[in-house]
Amino acid sequence: MAVYRRFRDRVRIGPVQVATYYDGRGRDRHTAACTAPGCGFSADYRDRAGAELAARTHRCKA
Ligand SMILES: [Zn+2]
Repeated sequence: MAVYRRFRDRVRIGPVQVATYYDGRGRDRHTAACTAPGCGFSADYRDRAGAELAARTHRCKA
């Protein structure tokens, strides 16, 4: 359980962090999460390009 959601390849694009993690079921997942206080945006993607695109096009409401 300790290794659940161990992020790697983390990059920051503006206020958004993109990271890759192993979902525990044999696949890699990619997540984009905004770090701005009060924004709360985060989403998972099947591919890294999707997550990075979401990060680049994120319009922060915070
Ligand atoms: Zn945001």
